[in-house]
Amino acid sequence: MKDSRTNPIPVEEALRIVLQAATSLPIQSVPLSEASGRVLAEEILTDADQPPFPKAMMDGFALRSADLGRLPAELAVVEEIPAGRLPSRGIGPGEASRIMTGAPLPEGADAVQMMERTEPAEGGKVRILEAVAPGANIAPRGQEMRSGDRILFPGDRLTAPRLGLLASVGHPEVSVRRIPAVSLAVTGDELVEAGKIPAPGQIRNSNGPAVAARLRGLGAQVTEMGIVPDRPEALRETIRRGLRDDMLLLSGGVSMGDRDFVEGALEEEGVEILFRKVAIRPGKPAVFGRKGSCLVFGLPGNPVSSLVILEVLAAPALRKMMGHEDPEGRRMEAELVEEVRQHPGRTGYLPGTLSFLGALARVRPIPTRGSADLLAHSRADALFIVPADRSSIGAGERVRVLVLE
Ligand code: AMP
Ligand code: MG
Repeated sequence: MKDSRTNPIPVEEALRIVLQAATSLPIQSVPLSEASGRVLAEEILTDADQPPFPKAMMDGFALRSADLGRLPAELAVVEEIPAGRLPSRGIGPGEASRIMTGAPLPEGADAVQMMERTEPAEGGKVRILEAVAPGANIAPRGQEMRSGDRILFPGDRLTAPRLGLLASVGHPEVSVRRIPAVSLAVTGDELVEAGKIPAPGQIRNSNGPAVAARLRGLGAQVTEMGIVPDRPEALRETIRRGLRDDMLLLSGGVSMGDRDFVEGALEEEGVEILFRKVAIRPGKPAVFGRKGSCLVFGLPGNPVSSLVILEVLAAPALRKMMGHEDPEGRRMEAELVEEVRQHPGRTGYLPGTLSFLGALARVRPIPTRGSADLLAHSRADALFIVPADRSSIGAGERVRVLVLE
């Protein structure tokens, strides 16, 4: 490997190193109530046809469509079939059964006419006011799924409809990857917590809440270790605790300043450093290493840099640990609305807002003062990528976009 102590490595190479180091966590079985947002670790097959019987999709009358040759048609109502009950008999010519949504269709019926297009008639009959085609308002058996169909796959994230599917095919429990345990510490003698008035020279810790929130959004179990002073012993103590988890993130203290002790402290604690600098803007000083099964990120202290490195490098590692099919997150192409410029040499991840003009995705750059401009970053719903060898991208050119969640 190139010496990344002096030479920043390209983003793609950093991502490759991170994804190679990340391994998927063990599988466990959890009830559906604990499975939301987690990643499926097994293949799911249906246990029966769905629907299991031809069923009414409307409240109305089950009938033979051929009986509606002349309208209105009066049919004898032979029974009432609520959802959850089998019909006690079929229907013959000139007959109909009152039927509720979800109820099984009686033998002989080939359509349901909705209640609103009927009216009661003398002598226990119903008057059908409009014709229906054969099959109308009926879901045939197995229309949605056939018994034995493969419907969910390892790597699928468990969204609300997928949890519904699991229940509908008889899975009260499901195999998922263990939730990653992540420790987060922020470093800096200048930092105070949000509830404090900063003394002269101090600033509030914004990385702690921001990074923790994003980690939780990704599905991690986060331990916030708080603010650590810029002292090697304090850092080492924090690192020792954090290394027990699946991932440890530290923010700040990874630049070239006299008080940037993070990398040294990591090495003292036996962390193998895999890279130290990445050719990315913002976020060049980005440290990555591992010890045993714990992955370690030293995020740059500047608020936007720390969130960008989290999004571009740490989030893919977490997704891979959780078993995601596509660890790199949602990417797309979009047309840049306004020209942007940069000093070439590093890949830019710049804040933008996405919009759609018909089928065309467009991204509008948000003016930013750079790696400390959390306000500009807070307005972005996407980062668009300016390749390292480009000094500008013109309006109308296509760019790659990383969608922020
Ligand atoms: P560092 O990487 O420690 O040199 O920090 C770079 C810049 O980010 C400095 O201006 C720090 O004051 C600022 N910074 C570091 N950590 C935080 C934090 N947790 N919240 C907000 N700003 C921070
Ligand atoms: Mg610092």
